This record gives sequence, C-alpha cells and structure tokens, in this order.
Amino acid sequence: MPEPTFVILGGGPAGCAAAIALRQSGGGTVVVAESGAYRSDRIGESVPPDIRRLFSRLGLLDAFELEGHEPCYGSCSSWGDYVLGYNDFTVNPNGTGLHLDRRRFDAFLARRASKAGAHLVTGARFRSVRPHTGEPAFVVELETSAGVRQLKASFVVDATGSRARLARNLGARRLVHDRFFCATGYFHLRDKAELTQLTMLEAVPDGWWYAARLPDRRIAVAFACDGDDLRSATLHESTSWLRRLGQTAFLAPALSESFYIPGSLRVCPVPCFVLDRPAGPHWLAAGDAASSFDPLSGQGIHKALSNGLAAADTIRACLDGDGTATERYADGIRQSFDTFLAQRYAFYAQERRWPEATFWERRREPRR
Ligand SMILES: Cc1cc2nc3c(=O)[nH]c(=O)nc-3n(C[C@H](O)[C@H](O)[C@H](O)COP(=O)(O)OP(=O)(O)OC[C@H]3O[C@@H](n4cnc5c(N)ncnc54)[C@H](O)[C@@H]3O)c2cc1C
Repeated sequence: MPEPTFVILGGGPAGCAAAIALRQSGGGTVVVAESGAYRSDRIGESVPPDIRRLFSRLGLLDAFELEGHEPCYGSCSSWGDYVLGYNDFTVNPNGTGLHLDRRRFDAFLARRASKAGAHLVTGARFRSVRPHTGEPAFVVELETSAGVRQLKASFVVDATGSRARLARNLGARRLVHDRFFCATGYFHLRDKAELTQLTMLEAVPDGWWYAARLPDRRIAVAFACDGDDLRSATLHESTSWLRRLGQTAFLAPALSESFYIPGSLRVCPVPCFVLDRPAGPHWLAAGDAASSFDPLSGQGIHKALSNGLAAADTIRACLDGDGTATERYADGIRQSFDTFLAQRYAFYAQERRWPEATFWERRREPRR
C-alpha cells in the first residue's frame, strides 16, 4: 500500500494546524499549498486564554509563549449602555488572552508545519480539483509562478478561508446568515503614552467599533457596518473613517495619544456562514472555509486551530476504516455554528438603544 498524500489548501491557522497534527499522528506526505508568502499584514488578532490548550495539543506551547504577543486582560465595552462594562480574564486558569501580531503568528505556524515535516509551497494558488476513482482520490491543480502544477491527493483539506475554494468547487454551498463589512486601520502609540490592554468595544447607531493594542505599540481599530452605509458614508476612505472614529465616546479619547498609520485602512467583507456540506468522501473543510463567525465572537482563530486538529484526527480515523468519522466531523462543525449563532443573537439583542437603526434592526431576529 503506497503512503497517502494529504494536500492542504491554505496555510492559515486551520491549514497549518491540520498539517502539524497530520505529521505528528502517523505516516504520509503532507503538502500545504499557500497562495501568499506571509509578507503582508493579516487581519484578526484577539485570542482567548484557552488558545494555550490547543498549542499544548500541538506540542508548541513553549515556542508560542516565546513569540511575545501582547497580553490581553479582557474587554471593556459600551454595548447596550452609555457606561463601560468590564469583562476580565484574571480568574481564567489558562492565563490572559492575547492580541497577536497576526502576520507573525501565521508565519510562525507555517514555519512549525515545515519543521514538523510538511512541504510548504508558498505562492501556490488552488485552481481546480478533479475527483478520481480509486487512489489517488483527487488530482489538484495549483497555479504557481513556474506555471500550473498538478498534485495527486489521497485526502484534501480546504483551509482557504471564507471563500472555501475547494469545497465550493466540489459543490458545497455557503448557508449565509449575515454579511457586513469591517473597515480596519492601524494606529501607532506615541512614545511613553499608555493604552489599556483590554479589547475595547463601542456600539454606535450604524454598527460597532473595536480596538486592540498589538505588539510593537501598534493598535488595530475596526468599524463593522453594513455595505450600504459603508458606501454612502465613504468609510473606505481614511478621511471619512477617521472623522467617524472621532465621534465615538470612548474609543476616540482612548486613542488620543496615538496616530493613524497612513495607508493602513482596509475594508473586508465579513460573511457569517456554515457550509451545507463541510466534508465529503476524502475531503474536509476546516476553519473559515467550513464556517465563518462574526469577529465579535473573537473565536475565529481558536476555531481554525481546533478544526485543523479535528480534521487530522478525522483523516486518520478514515484511514483506519471508520466509516462514520467524516459525518461526525461535519456534525461537529454544524453544532458549533449553531452554538455561535445562539450566542451572537443573545449578544446583539442586548443593544436596544437605537430601535429604529437599520444595522441593529437587521440583527434583532435570528436569520435562519
Ligand atoms: C475584520 C476581521 C476581524 C477579525 N478579528 C478576529 C479576532 O479578533 N479574533 C479571532 O479569533 N478571529 C478574528 N477574525 C476571524 C479570523 O481572522 C479567522 O477566523 C481566521 O483567520 C480563520 O483562519 P483560517 O486558517 O480558517 O483562514 P485564513 O486565516 O483566512 O487563512 C486562509 C489561508 O488560505 C490562503 N488562501 C486563500 N485562497 C487560497 C487559494 N485559492 N489557494 C491557496 N491558498 C489560499 C490565504 O492566503 C490564507 O493564508 C476576524 C476576521 C475579520 C474579517
């Protein structure tokens, strides 16, 4: 019997966790095809204290702690009220949360996947997949700077993020529950100035603002709003975005000792969805490719690592002849999405100050 080849599409947290766990759990060749090269900024930075449990399972806790990300002691928010509410991690047995330098975090995971023996191919974009009868199960086509490359795969993991490139190519559909936009810019904290190490959250009539202090005295600031408001108020332009930020009651004063980094504003769509089929014969989707949460939950990176670990376990179980492992994996994805939706609805429902505002009105009832 030839050794299996596992092809993982996407080298973000989900793809790298799957690669490391597959290498640690048995034989076979692991290839991670990543379209980027970990050189540009990446968005999404707050992780909860129990991310450490996942790093422990990956055997990387000590190495991760040495990376020097910024501790986060909890959050303070103006949500449903004009006064700040506090939620802290001080009694959490896993320690503090963290605000990550996200580019460095993803690059760290990619290096660790290589060190574990996975073949990491950067600048390789997934193009198409052809199911194959027997072994290999798929032929995957990648676009690289040297031309099109074909890989034979016994199992394929879609970890391409919320675009779910492979799964949708194989006929899976995204069941979208909500869609909005985040306009994220970066600030730099002036020398000697101080800023809270709590995640800051402020609801406003047309959305919510978020700020997190990052390593190297940088601060990520994001505004979540609907696409029609984003366009009509030109919030993709830094002048309008900064003017709007200046009108916030808590974030603007907190940022007074820092300056906006010119050119850093980026807008990205935020879909909240789960795939109708997160897995099938010889393929699985993991992380945002399988289900994408509202960033407000602060669970996306945790979920990506956890799905990556579960994907590796599922693949090994399938190879051992467990015929129900794939369906159990898919059920787990659906259940965690349902839990997220229930929590999200309860959280948005706490904000009742602007009953006529479209942003809140659109999110008052769970959309199924
Ligand atoms: C504005 C915003 C703020 C967020 N804030 C937080 C937060 O504070 N905390 C949190 O936990 N989560 C946050 N998230 C969510 C979090 O970023 C994601 O859940 C997490 O990145 C998912 O990891 P992943 O590995 O599944 O996907 P990704 O991180 O998206 O990684 C996918 C990888 O696949 C690669 N790729 C894409 N297409 C292809 C292709 N065709 N071929 C090959 N490679 C490909 C990409 O380059 C990337 O490296 C936020 C998201 C947004 C949009």
